[in-house]
Amino acid sequence: MPHLFALNDDHRAITDMAQTFAREKIAPHALDWDERKHFPVDVLREAAALGMGGIYTREDIGGSGLSRLDATLIFEALARGCPTVAAYLSIHNMCAWMIDRFGDAAQREKWGPALCSMDRLASYCLTEPAAGSDAAAIKMKARRDGDFYVLDGVKQFISGAGVSDLYVIMARTSDEGARGLTAFVVEKDRLSFGANEKKMGWNAQPTRQVICEDCRIPVANRLGEEGQGFRIAMAGLDGGRLNIAACSLGGAAAALDKAVAYMGERQAFGKKLDTFQALQFRLADMAIDLEASRTFLWRAASALDAKTPDATALCAMAKKFVTDACFSVANDALQLHGGYGYLADYGIEKIVRDLRVHQILEGSNEIMRLIVARHLIESRS
Ligand SMILES: Cc1cc2nc3c(=O)[nH]c(=O)nc-3n(C[C@H](O)[C@H](O)[C@H](O)COP(=O)(O)OP(=O)(O)OC[C@H]3O[C@@H](n4cnc5c(N)ncnc54)[C@H](O)[C@@H]3O)c2cc1C
Repeated sequence: MPHLFALNDDHRAITDMAQTFAREKIAPHALDWDERKHFPVDVLREAAALGMGGIYTREDIGGSGLSRLDATLIFEALARGCPTVAAYLSIHNMCAWMIDRFGDAAQREKWGPALCSMDRLASYCLTEPAAGSDAAAIKMKARRDGDFYVLDGVKQFISGAGVSDLYVIMARTSDEGARGLTAFVVEKDRLSFGANEKKMGWNAQPTRQVICEDCRIPVANRLGEEGQGFRIAMAGLDGGRLNIAACSLGGAAAALDKAVAYMGERQAFGKKLDTFQALQFRLADMAIDLEASRTFLWRAASALDAKTPDATALCAMAKKFVTDACFSVANDALQLHGGYGYLADYGIEKIVRDLRVHQILEGSNEIMRLIVARHLIESRS
């Protein structure tokens, strides 16, 4: 797999396109959007016009038909502008792929094109107030009633909620644990929403409860068969985890760039910061951690592209490794800015706040270890 370590012309073109978009359309506004808690839907639609609304969704419904490796390049590049905006786009892409992959012909035709153009935005709804890490314990009920299902329950922490138009919701159709879950696509007008949560970071996208109260939806909105919901939800997350890790990588790379620039200007004890060897070594360690993260991410993405049996474990490993390492790099970049790193104007503290949640969501990093350990034990000969 030579492309693991050397990008080809297509990869470079995709990266350039996403980097230019991030530099021109996202980065100049990122601090303002964070401060005002503004969700830049218009900019997301501009990204979609360049093919970033359905990156690895098939072309017959308007997707770009790119690989998972391509997606990690795009999300790293976008996150250099703003990890939060890139991360919402990642969730939207995950939902578009789930509908493309598990939807029937009518569902793909009905929702696919509007998702790829981002005329309609999507949210992923798994977590509940009493079921986060243990997703198989979710309680939201989906009761069959003739040609309809009736959903009742609450989803917690849903990114994009209240603004998104379509919601991929996992709900319970039987009491059989993970095997009792079913996936549904629910339109916004059937739902109600909680208040926008006040958060440490990720302020440029809303996070709300999604409330289903006697929510009646046609059977035609069921994604896959009854009982397949857990498998569908987890399949989405394999790629989602790579994308979130790529968002950490882009944020941390931007933080390192800022630190290198700052240390060439700032003086202490009559010398530029970048002449202190202890600090040079810190920079070197940060660069090594970023490169190790990038290499690992590309390896896991290639495994998912090739559908290897260890792909899920590799995605979990990469998500854990990359989001931990990159949070630490961003935090080090803040430290290297001294007191100024703590001020909002320098843009470093925002990156640290944004990257922190990547260690928690799309499966916490403890759960990533659980997946890796399970894989080790199950593949013991
Ligand atoms: C800003 C934000 C956006 C989010 N967006 C979405 C979204 O769009 N859609 C969605 O469905 N969810 C979303 N989430 C939810 C997120 O995925 C969950 O918060 C996460 O899965 C953890 O669940 P929990 O918060 O209930 O923590 P808990 O499951 O209560 O876990 C608490 C702590 O215990 C640890 N823990 C739990 N079980 C174990 C175990 N068996 N072994 C070791 N440690 C364990 C966890 O790692 C964690 O540290 C979002 C969360 C946030 C904060």
